[in-house]
Amino acid sequence: MKESLQKIEQALQQELTSCATTSDLLTLRGKYLGKNAEISTLMKSMKDVPAEQRPAMGALIHQTKQALELMLNQAELALKQKELNEKLAKETIDVTIEKPYKEKGSIHPINLELMRLEKILTGMGFSQIDGPEMDYDTYNFELVNVPQDHPARDMQDSLFITKDILLRTQTSNAQPRAMQNIKPPFKVFCAGRVFRKDEIDATHTPAFYQVEGIYIDKKVSMADLKSTITQILKEYLGEGTKTRFRASYFPFTEPSVEVDAVCNVCNGKGCPACKYAGGYEILGAGMIHPKVLELNGIDSNEYSGYAFGFGFDRFPKMRFKIPYAKYMFEHDIRFLKQFK
Ligand SMILES: [Zn+2]
Repeated sequence: MKESLQKIEQALQQELTSCATTSDLLTLRGKYLGKNAEISTLMKSMKDVPAEQRPAMGALIHQTKQALELMLNQAELALKQKELNEKLAKETIDVTIEKPYKEKGSIHPINLELMRLEKILTGMGFSQIDGPEMDYDTYNFELVNVPQDHPARDMQDSLFITKDILLRTQTSNAQPRAMQNIKPPFKVFCAGRVFRKDEIDATHTPAFYQVEGIYIDKKVSMADLKSTITQILKEYLGEGTKTRFRASYFPFTEPSVEVDAVCNVCNGKGCPACKYAGGYEILGAGMIHPKVLELNGIDSNEYSGYAFGFGFDRFPKMRFKIPYAKYMFEHDIRFLKQFK
């Protein structure tokens, strides 16, 4: 009996040397300690052993069983540790690995200027909205009072994608959405890219920026428009900025005005600096045409509003003395990294 117990122990020891995984070990555990294990058979045969030998034999079998368990447990512990180490080694991330050097970005001159203007407008109670750059003809033209046969469509060479869809020619496409979805009174502005069929030269690019704002409330008047625009331009262009309002025409507004900043060299008399114009045009504005309000579900008997719109690219060009508009769209890192 003692001999066969020793043999069992030796056999397990032998098998453990070639046991490589915890699942292999589970099989071994079944084989040596399970219901059909050799040691279990020996236990069962105890009943045939003479009564006086039973205690000694029982103790011997028990000892062997404990030894087998110990061996299996130790092997299991070692295997688990080994498997964990392997897993960790496989999943290690080397944080010291060398990556290709990337330059730190800088803010685009257009965004630098836009951020400045956006801050002024939000400070005056305007909320920022946006419209899609690709839009339906309806939102870009129809709902802002530029129907199919309107001559104003000839003023803008549009980039159509299908018969009804185009790249927006003006940020005004955000205004119908605001008027249809927000209950007056409200003040909103939209800043973004617009697109026209234009050849690239010193002052033209097929994509450029616009900023447009509208205010709709009861009894909004031209005086509100004038004081707001004057205030915006003083904050944006400097406290000394003088403005000049001239009558103009836009389909979106009636009456319409163009606003100039008066030349600060000649004070409006005309000089070489302003090419004898006495100033330069900054924006278009006016009282929102009652038809536009009605087209977008606002009662024009109860409400009125004003609108203004800037072509924006000239401001970063002026501030940073950028000679060609196209520089702002070429993404040349040598140009861009000058701006912080
Ligand atoms: Zn001048």
